[in-house]
Amino acid sequence: MTLPRTASAVIIGGGVVGCSIAYHLAGRGVRDVLVLERETVGSGTTSKAAGGIRAQFPTETEIRFSLEAIAVFERFEDEFGVDPGYKKIGYLFLVSDPADLRGFETRIALQRRLGVDVRVIAPDDAKKLVPALRVDDLVAAVWGPNDGLAGPAEVTNGFARRARERGARLVEAVRVTTIERAGDRVTGVGTTDGTVSTPLVINAAGPVAATVARLAGVEVPVQPRRRHIFYTEPFPEIPGPIPLTTDRASGFYFRKELEQILFSPGDVEDIGTDFEVPMDWSRLDEAVDKAVHRVPVLETAKIAGGWAGLRPLTPDDHAIIGWAPGVEGFFLAVGFGGHGFQHSPATGRHVADWIVDGKPSMDLSLFDPARFATGRADAHDKGPDAE
Ligand SMILES: Cc1cc2nc3c(=O)[nH]c(=O)nc-3n(C[C@H](O)[C@H](O)[C@H](O)COP(=O)(O)OP(=O)(O)OC[C@H]3O[C@@H](n4cnc5c(N)ncnc54)[C@H](O)[C@@H]3O)c2cc1C
Repeated sequence: MTLPRTASAVIIGGGVVGCSIAYHLAGRGVRDVLVLERETVGSGTTSKAAGGIRAQFPTETEIRFSLEAIAVFERFEDEFGVDPGYKKIGYLFLVSDPADLRGFETRIALQRRLGVDVRVIAPDDAKKLVPALRVDDLVAAVWGPNDGLAGPAEVTNGFARRARERGARLVEAVRVTTIERAGDRVTGVGTTDGTVSTPLVINAAGPVAATVARLAGVEVPVQPRRRHIFYTEPFPEIPGPIPLTTDRASGFYFRKELEQILFSPGDVEDIGTDFEVPMDWSRLDEAVDKAVHRVPVLETAKIAGGWAGLRPLTPDDHAIIGWAPGVEGFFLAVGFGGHGFQHSPATGRHVADWIVDGKPSMDLSLFDPARFATGRADAHDKGPDAE
């Protein structure tokens, strides 16, 4: 597709976040929305996600995002004509530290008040859900039966397809290289295929968000951190379905993908700022040690492969959504860490409402881009690092 020379809004990044924003903006009647993607739609960190979806978040804002998103995943096929592979397998957190359990109990009280079905269960009850677990060193488990998973590629394609049908243009293989300003106002973007005039630029560049923000002279504390996922050959010794299960003590988590077991050591590592994420196979030993401790039968599983991806983390593990301070017309939807996929339906809707209505449709101060400068970022519970 030829690159248009003007747009009412340019979204930088055709990941699940950028595509959801395009779909919702076009749905609110914004014409000439343009998504610029330097590679192909959905090929960024969205393609590395484990697909997990949970309502077990530590803040009211994020829980509301989850509940809205879960409702969208439930009706996704009707609305988008794409089967997202949504399954309510549940999320199970295995807890061995009493202090950690107290943190969960505080969060559970809030989650339940907002209508989330989540409960503390005994280790033996966790073993009923996943018989292969070792539970003798646990104090409890936390069970959210309505959590689940879906396919990031399917969801991104659903947003992209309907966004196009609503008139948005999604252009691949075009990289934004500059953000043009007249004084404090955004006026356009420069790209590898020429310039585009626009009064509104939305940064949805995932792990590259800080680099893209710098093009407009804005600093955002989004740090891409590497995480590995490995998978086994078909492993009938653990029959499905089982919940996405996280061992809080080690960070190890696993779930089934068809007949295979998908698992992560829960690693968090600084590694570059771009998409060429090298695999570190020594992480496999760590992952297997953690796996065999918690699920001894996995000792007999054969490893079939793995991948590494970048999670765009922020210092307080909450996303950054809002107008960039000091630059008119520059909006940020970045820093989604390990939950950008699952929150993408709500993110797109709220960003579109904010831009079209001139104010957000609910209190989004949790995500305020200015919170790091004012010190308010530390005030919120980070919650478990679950994906
Ligand atoms: C191992 C792993 C497991 C995860 N598991 C989960 C999970 O279970 N559940 C969950 O919700 N989330 C999970 N995540 C997190 C999730 O993948 C991200 O939060 C989410 O995909 C972010 O989406 P995005 O659209 O912001 O980023 P991206 O998908 O990275 O999209 C940004 C796009 O911007 C493009 N871009 C960058 N710079 C430019 C430029 N200058 N010009 C044009 N285009 C540009 C990139 O090519 C990219 O396609 C996981 C992540 C990892 C790494």
